[in-house]
Amino acid sequence: MADVKKQVILMKGIGVSSGIIIGKAYLIERGVIEPAQFCYLDIAETDSEIERFQNALKASRDQLLRIKKKMEQDGKGKEHIRIIDAHLMILKDNMLINDTVKVIKEERVNAEWALKTVLKDLMEYFDKIDDEYLKERSMDIEHIVNRVLINLMGKKHESITEIKYPSIVIAHDLAPTDTAQMVKGMVLGFLTDVGGRTSHTAIMARSLEIPAVVGLETITRKAEMGDIIIVDGTTGTVIINPSDSVVDVYRKRKERYENYGRALFHYRDLPCETTDGRRVRLMGNMEIVEEIDSLLEHGAEGIGLYRTEFLYLNRKDLPTEEEHIKAYKQVIKKMAPNPVTIRTLDIGGDKVLSHVDMPKEINPAMGLRAIRFCLKNTDIFRTQLRGILRASVYGKIKIMFPMISGIEEIRQAKALLEQSKEELKAEGKAFDPDIEVGVMIEIPSAAIIADLIVKEVNFISIGTNDLLQYSLAIDRVNEHVAYLYEPFHPAVLRIIKTVADAANKAGISVGVCGEMAGEPEYALILLGFGLDLLSMNAFSILKVKRLIRSISFAEAKKICKMITSFATAKEVESFINLKLPGLYKEEFWS
Ligand code: PEP
Ligand code: MG
Repeated sequence: MADVKKQVILMKGIGVSSGIIIGKAYLIERGVIEPAQFCYLDIAETDSEIERFQNALKASRDQLLRIKKKMEQDGKGKEHIRIIDAHLMILKDNMLINDTVKVIKEERVNAEWALKTVLKDLMEYFDKIDDEYLKERSMDIEHIVNRVLINLMGKKHESITEIKYPSIVIAHDLAPTDTAQMVKGMVLGFLTDVGGRTSHTAIMARSLEIPAVVGLETITRKAEMGDIIIVDGTTGTVIINPSDSVVDVYRKRKERYENYGRALFHYRDLPCETTDGRRVRLMGNMEIVEEIDSLLEHGAEGIGLYRTEFLYLNRKDLPTEEEHIKAYKQVIKKMAPNPVTIRTLDIGGDKVLSHVDMPKEINPAMGLRAIRFCLKNTDIFRTQLRGILRASVYGKIKIMFPMISGIEEIRQAKALLEQSKEELKAEGKAFDPDIEVGVMIEIPSAAIIADLIVKEVNFISIGTNDLLQYSLAIDRVNEHVAYLYEPFHPAVLRIIKTVADAANKAGISVGVCGEMAGEPEYALILLGFGLDLLSMNAFSILKVKRLIRSISFAEAKKICKMITSFATAKEVESFINLKLPGLYKEEFWS
């Protein structure tokens, strides 16, 4: 029979791990388990049903222990093994076990049905939680329950290690146990219907450097086993059954991308300085400790932004002082001797703490978030400040306060810091007395009074993500106004210049830790405006270094002088595009 040409399908999801891959689809049935059959039991049957449930729990536990052992033998990293440990903990969860047993007994139903009922209740509970991180953790529970269900139904649990040829793994969802077992070389990339940027699977993909796109919604229905698939993990593009000419285009792109990536490593150990000797420090942004290895590999000279809210989001209680110390110490040790800039809790807005009574706000982005929340909840704030201070004995730490709108907030935050220092002194606990204190400039009011702010702090860092949101009045999570997000907007440029001038005049360090810092065309302007520190994701570090090393500071300043007279973002963009010769352009994208 003649080959029937398969339909080309283009899909867009969330690219969570960069890189381009072309390969064959391997579909794994995960996440969607067949509906459990309902069986009404005789009262005499409930005991043996409970025993069957206990056996399935034990089988699941044995499987996980085997996976863990294999991972240890294979030398997988601690973070992978920790995920298996977390799953083993869920298997011991009293609520899950006791509630299922109770449903079997009281409702006289089979174990599969009882377990599904308990899972449904748990998921409904998680759905009501307004906490993205906790919601994603609920997936771990779902994965574990599915494993128990498969064992109850006497089915085989497919293992990702059984894939026989290099494939692009496609699943409704992948359990972290799957990603942790992935063998580089066999799993070329992966695609899932669900998932978000902070899910464990996304984190794993980045640490394994496997291209991955999540949140594709219907990829498991659209792709078939063996289909040829193109995955662009940077843009989130997926093409199923591409034509030969599209495959050719992507092959070339992939080659350019990989050559470019390899070529960039040439810059890894070279100093980040302009041709006339201006030094700019390139640091990394991080949320979780697993990101550090990649930052170090790309030559980060420290952490310019440690978003600590992730310490608060993955749990039902608040982190203790000791937990703060432990988390920071880990980061400092890995980054030593380079500095780690710890941003104090930036909660509120879209990031809600489920266990703290926070008011529902009509306009959360302008509500009780970040430093405002901390100054109202001083117990929470002081625990973090004490933790940061005590961790400062292990290496170079800087403290950074987010969302500052005026001088009073800085003074209040610093007063609380001083109070914490006094307490620690009285308790005989050590800390770095000269710890540097800085603020983020993210609100236009703070930018306008930058000349006053620089007198209060040791350094400043511009958070361009929020600065653009507030100065251009565009909600950063609203796709309808996304077209107005213009870092080249003359107002934005003037604000950045004002802040940089004030800091340079006062002789203190001024950096950018928003997304602008990681794009070469913006980095060029930031260099010209006199910023001395740019903090970004791992992948951007080398391309920005390459740009900075290929231009003189004098030239960058001249370019900045020119663009400040332009009236629109488009004019600035055209000028920069003209100025950026092939050397600075991201040629592999074209
Ligand atoms: C910023 O606003 O630019 C920033 C770096 O902080 P966040 O993205 O965490 O709000
Ligand atoms: Mg911000």
